[in-house]
Amino acid sequence: MELIGRTAIVTGASKGIGYEVAAYLMQHGADVVITARSEKELNDAADQLGKTYGTRAVPVVCDVSDAASVNRLFEQAAAELGDISILVNNAGNSTVDIIENLSEADWDSVIGTHLKGTFLCTKAAINHMKAHGINGAVINTSSVETVSTTRGNAHYSAAKAGIEKFTEVAALEAGHHGIRVNSVAPGIIITPMTNEVTTPGFQQAWRETFSVDRFGEPADIAKAVTFLASDYASWITGVTLLVDGGTHLRGLPDYVDHLLPAEK
Ligand code: NDP
Repeated sequence: MELIGRTAIVTGASKGIGYEVAAYLMQHGADVVITARSEKELNDAADQLGKTYGTRAVPVVCDVSDAASVNRLFEQAAAELGDISILVNNAGNSTVDIIENLSEADWDSVIGTHLKGTFLCTKAAINHMKAHGINGAVINTSSVETVSTTRGNAHYSAAKAGIEKFTEVAALEAGHHGIRVNSVAPGIIITPMTNEVTTPGFQQAWRETFSVDRFGEPADIAKAVTFLASDYASWITGVTLLVDGGTHLRGLPDYVDHLLPAEK
């Protein structure tokens, strides 16, 4: 999966899945711009990536839910690395609560980061790729929560379902310009976001959902993203690739039972 000479933007790449996606793209030859809001963590990640792999990792602080910040990201990325041909919309956040207690702030933050962020970055990428005649690939990040339902995550599940439909429309609109748009839908991946799974009971409940008998790792998602970014996926667009060890076959554990026992 050759990506030599290609340039990618990976959002939310200071840690977790995004960091590993950047690492895999670099291993396959791409230069990357990585983004997050926390500057120090982002700079440390870029240093580490640059030391480990032979291509460039450029940190650009960006809040993907803010249009001005996203526009600055694309200007700086193009100034540093030239034509951008891969965008990975990975930035994300999460809270758990039942709808009757879910705050407007949490709703806005989760929808803003995932759904609005994916829209703003994809819009900027399509405009950039069209203007420069680039055959590009956009990879969005959904979740197994779109095919299996759990209590306690209405805002997050709604955002991810929106991202999948957005992916289809974007693929339809951008395909004639040589731009493919797909999503990956991870199951449970051990990252800073999923520290809750350290609860023994919740871990066991997750284990019972797996067909491939282990928790997911960031590399499991990075491999799928690298494939979708590469020419090996040259006739694939408008799809969501589930990467979940089979969780969708059995269904998600109930988040309220495990994380909000008082609400049971
Ligand atoms: P992490 O919490 O480990 O990392 C999230 C990254 O996103 C950080 O770099 C964070 O940096 C950045 N980020 C958060 N908000 C913003 C923002 N508004 N603008 C820019 N960057 C932002 O998350 P994961 O690696 O676990 O998750 C990555 C993606 O995968 C998310 O979209 C998530 O929903 C999805 N996913 C994860 C699963 C899992 O089990 N881990 C399962 C299914 C989907 P900073 O806070 O400094 O901005």
